[in-house]
Amino acid sequence: MTAGVRFLNIEQYYHYEIEAYHNVDDLIIDRRDNQIGNSSNNSSYVSKSTDSIQIYAKTYGASKYESTLLAIAVSRIADRPIELYNICEKDLKKLPQASINTIEALGNISLYYTTLFLDKHLSVDESERIKLRSASYLYNLYNRLGYKKCALCSCEIPEIIQGAHIWGVSQISRCNHLDEETKFSHAISGNNGLWLCQNHHKLFDSNIIMIDCNGHVRIKDGLAAKDIAFLRTTTFKNSLDKLILNDDFRWYISKRNEELDLEHSHELAV
Ligand SMILES: [Zn+2]
Repeated sequence: MTAGVRFLNIEQYYHYEIEAYHNVDDLIIDRRDNQIGNSSNNSSYVSKSTDSIQIYAKTYGASKYESTLLAIAVSRIADRPIELYNICEKDLKKLPQASINTIEALGNISLYYTTLFLDKHLSVDESERIKLRSASYLYNLYNRLGYKKCALCSCEIPEIIQGAHIWGVSQISRCNHLDEETKFSHAISGNNGLWLCQNHHKLFDSNIIMIDCNGHVRIKDGLAAKDIAFLRTTTFKNSLDKLILNDDFRWYISKRNEELDLEHSHELAV
């Protein structure tokens, strides 16, 4: 309905009123709620930041048609520019050409192809590579963890939730014994990360907050009492949810922690 589809004979199949969305926020919330009720339903994801709306478009099977309709719907209600990432799946690298033509004609969607930077023959500059790598990483996080929600305070405001690497990209790129393809697969792995709000992301990257291999949240020793009190009132979890803690995630934690001093830290009591 939001995309402008007119339903024929709908009363024979569906007995409630169907209403179009008027803004992207309602659409994001409904998709998130639907997904919580059906965790195996890994469909396309919609999110937003302060200056753009992102669509992570699945290109495989029936999802490619959903992605196309979703793009048309979002295009009609968006209040800011839209970025659509064609997510590479199996041997499919992009939506069908008819979909691409339709989306381009809408005028407010920029299309990105996440496989491009794997192909060394194509010239893509470094900032574009980082953008595309980041889109693949976020898509993998969505697939593993669902819609954005800070793992430490449960904040769900999409504009301030980020994908936080466990084994950092700069750590990975220093591993000279790994070939480029292996480094890349670690950098975009959905197991190598969590959703964190900007505050917790910064605290995590500054190693003020650390996570041990059992998923317990630790804070570094030597902080002022008022800072510890602040961390206690803004961090509602003293250990990560079971969903996050699979074997691959623990392995990434161990790689991260090789360079950290967990001896001089203690468990956060919340
Ligand atoms: Zn948080």
